Amino acid sequence: MDVHTGSRTFSTGAAHPPGESPASPARTIVIVGAGFSGTAVAMNLLRLPQAQPLRVVLIEREVMARGTAYGRQHRAYLLNVPAGRMSASSADPLEFLAFAQRRHPDATAADFLPRELYGEYLESALACAAQAAPPHVQLERIRGHVIAIEREHRGAGLRLHLENGLRLTADTIVLALGNPAPKPLPGSERLPQPRYVADPWRAPPQFRAGETVLLVGTGLTMADIALAGDAAAQGRATIHAISRHGLIPAPQREARQVEPRSGAATLARAAAVSVRRLVRAVRSLAEDIEVRGGDWREAVTLVRNLVPALWQSLPAAERRRFLRHVRGYWEVHRHRLPERTWAALSELWRAGRLHVHAGRIERLEPADRQVRVRWRARGARSAKTLLVDRVINCTGPDYDARHSRERLLRSLLAQGVAVADPLGLGIRTDERGALIDASGRVSGRLYYVGPMLRPRYWETTAVPELRVHAERLAWHLAGDAGSGAHVRVA
Ligand SMILES: Cc1cc2nc3c(=O)[nH]c(=O)nc-3n(C[C@H](O)[C@H](O)[C@H](O)COP(=O)(O)OP(=O)(O)OC[C@H]3O[C@@H](n4cnc5c(N)ncnc54)[C@H](O)[C@@H]3O)c2cc1C
Repeated sequence: MDVHTGSRTFSTGAAHPPGESPASPARTIVIVGAGFSGTAVAMNLLRLPQAQPLRVVLIEREVMARGTAYGRQHRAYLLNVPAGRMSASSADPLEFLAFAQRRHPDATAADFLPRELYGEYLESALACAAQAAPPHVQLERIRGHVIAIEREHRGAGLRLHLENGLRLTADTIVLALGNPAPKPLPGSERLPQPRYVADPWRAPPQFRAGETVLLVGTGLTMADIALAGDAAAQGRATIHAISRHGLIPAPQREARQVEPRSGAATLARAAAVSVRRLVRAVRSLAEDIEVRGGDWREAVTLVRNLVPALWQSLPAAERRRFLRHVRGYWEVHRHRLPERTWAALSELWRAGRLHVHAGRIERLEPADRQVRVRWRARGARSAKTLLVDRVINCTGPDYDARHSRERLLRSLLAQGVAVADPLGLGIRTDERGALIDASGRVSGRLYYVGPMLRPRYWETTAVPELRVHAERLAWHLAGDAGSGAHVRVA
C-alpha cells in the first residue's frame, strides 16, 4: 500500500498471527471518519479474534476519536444521555462510567457528564484496544480528508483518494462520515458569516450584550447555544427561537420502573395498521405506566427498543405521515435535556430573555448591519418580520444525502455506488450496513455506519444505538456474521 504521510500513525507490530508466515498479506479495512461510529468499529475490530492478519486504517480529517459531539469546547456542554448508558461497548455497559470515576470519583451512572470527557474516553479506549491487540492486528491512524473512492483497475481492491494527494488501497471500506451540517436557511447565502452561523458547532456563540439573536430550531442544539450565548452576553441578549411546532425537549428524569401491561405485540399490531394507531398505542402505554406510579419516559424507552422493527413494518406512505405529523412530537420526548440544562433554559424563558415561537422561516434578508427575518407563525395567513443581529442555524444535521456538500458522498452518489433515501433520511444499506447501489446490488466491500442508517432503523443518532451497529458491523467484517445483536437501549 502506498501510504506516505507525515501524520501521526500507530501500529501494534507485525501483521501476522503467531505461527503464521509474516509474508501472508494483511487484509486492509479502511474506516473513513473517526467520530464515535468509526472509532467504535475500529475498537471492535481490534478486540475481536481475527484469524487472518488485519490492518485497520482509521482516517480522520479533524481530531481523532471525537467527532462533532465530543471535541474540545469553550464550554462544558453536557452529554444528553446519562453516563451509565454511554459505554462504547455493550459487553461492558459501565466502561465509560469507570473511566469517568477515575477523574471524578463521585460520578454516578445517572450523571450527565461533560461531552469533552466522553471524547477523552473514546481516545483512551481506542489506544487501549490498539495496545491490547495481538501482533497480527494493527491500527494505523491517518489525518486526512477522503474525497473519492474508486475500484482498482487491476486487482479486486478499492482505492481511496485524499485531498492532500495521498492514495491508498483497501480490501474493505467503512464510511463513518457522521453528522452533516444543517440545511441552509432560505436567503442565508446572502448573509455574511458573523450575521449568519451555518453550523453552530464550528465556533463558540458570540452573542453580545444588547443584541437580538434568532435561533432557528428548538431542540437540544438550541438549548446549548441559547445558554452559552446568554452567558457570553452576560444575560443581556434577547433570544428568539423558532421551529415548526415550537416544542422544547422534555427533561430527563429518573423514574421508578413499572412493568407495562401491554408491550411489543400491541405496538407491532398497531404499526402494521397505521401511524395513527401506533401513536394511540404509545399514548395508552405511557398513560398506563403513569397511572401505576411510573413515568412516561419508560414508555419511550420501550418504544425506542422496538423502533427498528416498528419502522420497518410501516408502509412508505405511513412513514411519510410519521415524518410530517409525528416526528416533532417524538423528537422532544425521545431526545431529552439533562434536568440541569432544562431548568436553566426554563429560567431564561421565565426571565423573558428567551422567546419561543411556532412557525416557519420564509426568508432571511440583509438589512444594514442586521438581518430581516420574514417568518410565518403556525396557522397564520400572513408573514411577520423580525429584525435581529444574528441568526444561528440550530436545525440539526441534514441527513438528506441529496443535499450533501461533501465531496466524497457526492462522488459516490454520482457514480451510483451510494443511493440517497427518497425520504431524505440517509443512504440505502442492507441489514449489516453494506451499501446498496443504484442497480440494487449489495456491496461486499463498502459499508456505512452512523446516523444515516435511518432509512432502515429510524433511531440511529445516539451512542446506545450506534454502538450496536458498530459491533454488528465489526463482527460481520471479522467473519462472524452470525453474532447479530439487537439494538437495545439499556
Ligand atoms: C452536538 C452534538 C451532541 C451530541 N450529544 C450526544 C450525547 O450526549 N449522547 C449521545 O448518545 N449522542 C449524542 N449526539 C449524537 C451523535 O451523533 C452520536 O453520539 C455520535 O457522536 C455520532 O458519531 P459519528 O461518528 O457517526 O459522527 P460524527 O461525530 O459526526 O463523526 C464523523 C467524523 O467523520 C469525519 N469525516 C467525515 N467525512 C470525512 C472524510 N471524507 N474524510 C475524513 N474524515 C471525515 C468528521 O470529521 C467526523 O470527525 C450528539 C450529536 C451532536 C451533533
